[in-house]
Amino acid sequence: MLSKPGNGILCAGVVAFLSCSNATVVPFWEIEDSNLPDIAMARADPNWGSAVVYNPEYCEQIGDACGFFRAHAHAHIKLNHTLLASPKLYPALQEAQADCFVGKYGKPHEIRGAVKFLLEVDAAVLGWEIYGDPVKRAEAIRKCAMEAGRWIGD
Ligand SMILES: [Zn+2]
Repeated sequence: MLSKPGNGILCAGVVAFLSCSNATVVPFWEIEDSNLPDIAMARADPNWGSAVVYNPEYCEQIGDACGFFRAHAHAHIKLNHTLLASPKLYPALQEAQADCFVGKYGKPHEIRGAVKFLLEVDAAVLGWEIYGDPVKRAEAIRKCAMEAGRWIGD
């Protein structure tokens, strides 16, 4: 496991993964873990209060979508959700809130990448578990992004 500081963006009180004007770069923490059974998750961290852990091998496979799922994990922290031991334990409402948060404030190419991933991926083939109904998640994320003027796909 490798710990490393990342450079995040802070604007309008929203941390870590945004593209916005008047952005200030702030440090935040992400931890690579090739053994993580999920793409990314937020967890309590003894040094930093909270951190996002992600699987760099999954991320390499899914490209731009990885940024979305890392941002989703940051969103759980930002939205003051109680950080849980596994991504699949979050209530559906909090999952939807984190997805929509990134849809509204995330990077457009990562939002588009995640929607494409959710619509096209055969998680069973990959051996991954995708939480919730992927088509419904994709539609909800796209809607949030459109409402915020951040949708760049079809
Ligand atoms: Zn989540």
